[in-house]
Amino acid sequence: MIAKDSVVSMTYILTNASGEELDRASKDEPFTYLHGHSQIVPGLEKALAGSLIGSQKKVVVTPADGYGEFDAKLRTTSSRKQFPPDAELSIGMRFAADDDDGQPIIFTITELTADDVSLDGNHPLAGETLHFDVEIVDVRPASAEELAHGHAHGPDGHHHHG
Ligand code: ZN
Repeated sequence: MIAKDSVVSMTYILTNASGEELDRASKDEPFTYLHGHSQIVPGLEKALAGSLIGSQKKVVVTPADGYGEFDAKLRTTSSRKQFPPDAELSIGMRFAADDDDGQPIIFTITELTADDVSLDGNHPLAGETLHFDVEIVDVRPASAEELAHGHAHGPDGHHHHG
């Protein structure tokens, strides 16, 4: 049964409110995570607690329990001068910066002009209601090493560090 410190492997299909597929993990390559360590969106983690191997679930996650509400304040425009002169900027490029509270935020470049760089610090799925169609394919206790690292290792025990 899925509980804190379980290593969970699952397949899923993620669609948005209009039924458009955003992401999926199939049986050949299930998604594996360490439960109770905020590695998946909070709404999905809560819904999966207590699930058994083989169980199938449809979980609807609101933006607040998913990737956050869309925040217009996180859309800003900077001068190109604020970037290193040799930085090769392109639309869609992502980089980390700190917000006013010192929290790291991933910004995506959305527009480039000769002088300005338009940035969006919202998660690409911010404001989306997420529909997960999940099947739990494996649940096992985490190893001491996985707990020390705070993440799951591969199903074969191999290390998959990003
Ligand atoms: Zn590790």
